Amino acid sequence: MVCKTNPKDRNIKRKISIIGAGYVGSTIAYALMMKELASEIVLIDINKKSAKGEVLDIRHGIPYMGSTTIHDGDYEDSKNSDLIIITAGRNRKSNETRLEMVEENLKIVREVIDKLSGYYTKGVIMIVSNPVDIITLKVAQWMDLPNGTVFGTGCILDTSRFVSVLAEFLGLNIEVINGLIVGEHGESQIPVWTKVTVEGRPIEQYCDAVSIKFTEVEKNMIAQKVKQMGTEIISNKGKTHYGIATCVCYLADAMLNRKSIIASVTSVLQGEYGVHDLALSLPSIIGRNGVEKRIVEKLDNHEMQLFRDSEKRLLLTIKSI
Ligand code: NAD
Repeated sequence: MVCKTNPKDRNIKRKISIIGAGYVGSTIAYALMMKELASEIVLIDINKKSAKGEVLDIRHGIPYMGSTTIHDGDYEDSKNSDLIIITAGRNRKSNETRLEMVEENLKIVREVIDKLSGYYTKGVIMIVSNPVDIITLKVAQWMDLPNGTVFGTGCILDTSRFVSVLAEFLGLNIEVINGLIVGEHGESQIPVWTKVTVEGRPIEQYCDAVSIKFTEVEKNMIAQKVKQMGTEIISNKGKTHYGIATCVCYLADAMLNRKSIIASVTSVLQGEYGVHDLALSLPSIIGRNGVEKRIVEKLDNHEMQLFRDSEKRLLLTIKSI
């Protein structure tokens, strides 16, 4: 089913394919449409009926908002996409970790890549399916594209949650806070406290100046809250999709509109911190071709130890597959 609505003159032709039209995929399509980031969006799902339903539903808002052509389709319709977003795979339950879904979701994404690769012509592949670090690594290996062309949303969502929890703790607007979470998008994520700033000054200095108690106790409390946030949402409503859809739009906007932002996303490391052949989140410059450069921050000893723990945890999981 193809829908061409409100054919405003579009001077930029940009195509985004989304594979997996469940909660996450369809919310991403909706958010992309609202932000008018693509001239064409294709939704592909093993459940064709469901993809068609999502397309119809999203399309009904287009006359009042946006100018995107949105349609459901098959893998051949993904040809010539500027961006391919993979969200196929089941969501986790509140009592399991993302890594516990690895076998199941890797099998699903393998199927997706087997079908997609025959039609792949160009474009960045963005992974959202969990466990995102391992799936990013495997897709990068299977597709064998230049480093950074396949990358995953990784810790961008955790970083965004971190900034939001910090803003609440400090009673400030999120805009004045800079935060960073690196490593695994999951249990071993690492808040990089040495890089947290409030309007440019280190958080410790700010808390000192305004007499806010800020010790290891507060740090641990904040870090735990951020780590548990996905689980908290899932135990309340059974899934998470709005937050990640916003993050995906932010990344898509940067890529397609060449904004060159820095975000903590996951890609296959090539010797950063001595790590090879493993995808982990690091602050990365996002450009037209995906991850264009990873930034190697100076971590303190404790942060470095936690980074090694994240590395070991993923290596063990990969070995066990
Ligand atoms: P969902 O169950 O609503 O949707 C999954 C979709 O994948 C379904 O429509 C299903 O039909 C489709 N699918 C299954 N097998 C397929 C196949 N072989 N080919 C094509 N499509 C197939 O789940 P959801 O809530 O949309 O979550 C999707 C994924 O996104 C999960 O792995 C979830 O953990 C992940 N997620 C990641 C983040 C993040 O920060 N990276 C955040 C939220 C969710």
